[in-house]
Amino acid sequence: MNIAIDGPAGAGKSTVAKAVASRLRYVYIDTGAMYRALAWAVLQAGISVEDEEAVAALLQHNRIRLERSGNEQRVFWNDTDVTGEIRTPEVSRYASIVASYGAVRSLMLILQRRMAEQGNVVMDGRDIGTHVLPDAEVKIFLTASIRERAKRRFAELMAQGHATTVEELEAEIAERDRRDSEREVAPLRQAADAVLVDTTGRSVEDVVDHILQICKRTGEEAK
Ligand code: C5P
Repeated sequence: MNIAIDGPAGAGKSTVAKAVASRLRYVYIDTGAMYRALAWAVLQAGISVEDEEAVAALLQHNRIRLERSGNEQRVFWNDTDVTGEIRTPEVSRYASIVASYGAVRSLMLILQRRMAEQGNVVMDGRDIGTHVLPDAEVKIFLTASIRERAKRRFAELMAQGHATTVEELEAEIAERDRRDSEREVAPLRQAADAVLVDTTGRSVEDVVDHILQICKRTGEEAK
């Protein structure tokens, strides 16, 4: 069984997906981290983020690797561990720009499908249920109010020592949502057969249990 978890920025996808994967002993794949790694590399290389061809060539000639280390997932650009560096607001903004390029998305699609070939993965992103794994047995569209999403990101960034405000993050998230939803290639959309789960005011445990129940029901129906 494959599980696709999509939704807007800060809805809690990675926390929830990681917990679901761990409970089911599935492999967790964070596709956002792949766009972030490319964005990080664009910044490092000093190429213009507006230059679609150069950005796609950068991805084509380098390697992104996701590695499990205990309960954590580490992200590598070639041999450089970029796990910590890809969570800054600047990388977030660049990631949503590089993610709007068709040439980048088709390369990512190939990499992501290959990662899910063995089955039993929980993959989170924006277009997993609609494009990457349209045949996933379970599809969840995770959302939450924009205020709550900004507050969660604020807590995360504060813990990492980044200076920002909830208002600033709300504006940044709204801009990313707009770019993700309005892009031409694989925009952020709830798949027709996805279950909508609103996490506003709900605990992680509660949401994880809800999703596990959906998985159990799907598993039983398939028997
Ligand atoms: O999920 P996360 O916030 O880490 O993703 C970073 C950016 O990567 C998103 O804002 C989105 O633009 C892009 N993304 C995407 N498709 C995915 C995963 C992420 O376009 N499947």
